[in-house]
Amino acid sequence: MPPSFFDSVLQLIVRTSTDLPPDVRAAMKHSLVAEPEGTRSSQALTIIAQNIDLAVDTEGAICQDTGMPTFEVKTPVGANQIWMRQRIREAVAEATRRGKLRPNSVDSITGTNSGDNLGPGTPIVHFDQWERDAIEIKLILKGGGCENTNAQYALPVELPHLGRADRNLDGVRKCILHAVWNAQGKGCAPGAVGVCVGGDRTSGYTHAKEQLFRTLDDINPDSRLAGVEAQVMATVNDLDIGTMGFGGKVTLIGCKIGALNRLPASFFVSVAYDCWAFRRLGVELNATTGAIERWLYRDPSHPVIPMLDQAGFVRTGREIALRAPLTEEAVRGLRVGDVVMISGPMFTGRDAVHSHLMKHDPPVDLRGAVLYHCGPVVVKEGDGWRVTAAGPTTSIREEPYQGEIIRRYGIRAVIGKGGMGAKTLAALKEHGAVYLNAVGGAAQFYARSIKGVDGVSLLEFGTPEAMWHLRVEDFPAIVTMDAHGNSLHKDVEQESGQHLEVIGAGAGG
Ligand code: SF4
Repeated sequence: MPPSFFDSVLQLIVRTSTDLPPDVRAAMKHSLVAEPEGTRSSQALTIIAQNIDLAVDTEGAICQDTGMPTFEVKTPVGANQIWMRQRIREAVAEATRRGKLRPNSVDSITGTNSGDNLGPGTPIVHFDQWERDAIEIKLILKGGGCENTNAQYALPVELPHLGRADRNLDGVRKCILHAVWNAQGKGCAPGAVGVCVGGDRTSGYTHAKEQLFRTLDDINPDSRLAGVEAQVMATVNDLDIGTMGFGGKVTLIGCKIGALNRLPASFFVSVAYDCWAFRRLGVELNATTGAIERWLYRDPSHPVIPMLDQAGFVRTGREIALRAPLTEEAVRGLRVGDVVMISGPMFTGRDAVHSHLMKHDPPVDLRGAVLYHCGPVVVKEGDGWRVTAAGPTTSIREEPYQGEIIRRYGIRAVIGKGGMGAKTLAALKEHGAVYLNAVGGAAQFYARSIKGVDGVSLLEFGTPEAMWHLRVEDFPAIVTMDAHGNSLHKDVEQESGQHLEVIGAGAGG
């Protein structure tokens, strides 16, 4: 058996999680240049760029959600795939132990986290054979926020703002535009989409995800699909959804379409949405030794260029300093668009904590508190803990509970990403609270604002789902829903819906 196989897979996982591939970096750098300085999207992109650089420097996870590890492996005929699958599983467990992957494998019935990313269906490993005498392994780490924005359409279908999508390439184009519009900032825009035309419901989604292994700058060999890709890319940024849904000039950095044959009765269009933290890499291994002979997606003659030329997040002087616990007066003084810098205690809480708080009193006093929708990567150090990655998670999942929890326990600020709905907006107004949008995926950036871990509650839910008691200093976020009934998310969704109508009508197929 190839003796270096395990080490090579471990290297692949660590690098995929911590070092964005050059084509994605180039696209993000282009986005940074495209947004006018001083805009919300520009500030968010600066944080993202700084985060990308920090992740490489410290070998830390680019985003705390290291997603569903999905391996595509090609082996020479006769190679022992059972042995390889086992070594891949061991490498995943080791990368998790080292804090390069967050424990993300949860029993779907009990909610118990396996703690090592192993379990039925995780990680995903697909094998294929080829005629070559080498092993190729590609890996993609696609997180939950963007996975939840995937979409599948059965054509013909009526789409809001776009009308009917028929069973032709113009119908495909409309489905892609709709999926991107529907994702808004929830999938951490700017994103990229992999698309499959046809197949069945299962193979369609698989093939769509496989398109994400193409480089962002390649040209589709099928000229018909290349035409749709070009049409989408030429118009989609007119949606003005922008980074994190803040409004802005760059919404999508790539559109890659494949096609499978279908049953005569079915016409599916499957869209796999990936976020800016588009983590995919690959290696080619010597089949005898298992050593890495070549990195895919990387040209060794081109060294990695830093995303930022200088300092990173620069204050404009208009930032508002807040110290938790917050008063109602301070919170009612905030308006949509304000940038705040928070210091003091902050508590994490996501799905399990929200469900718990609906039935039980909180383990800490939450009056005036800042609640952070975040499932951090945390490592044990001696008797204490250290947060190594801590970006926000998608807030809309907590919409059924958030308003009630604010009312019951006196929370004054909720931090997350992607915004929340009408129930939460009403609760913010009634009880004097705000929703703050942090930059999704900026896990290394925000980890540096965390100065210590003062404790943890509900650790039985697993590290991502526990309530961590953090101490933060100058944690930046943008007010996107205020205590006066205003919501930037609602505004951007409505305006981009109007743009969608224009773009959708613009081209025929
Ligand atoms: S960048 Fe956003 S969508 Fe992507 S994995 Fe991280 S939190 Fe999820």
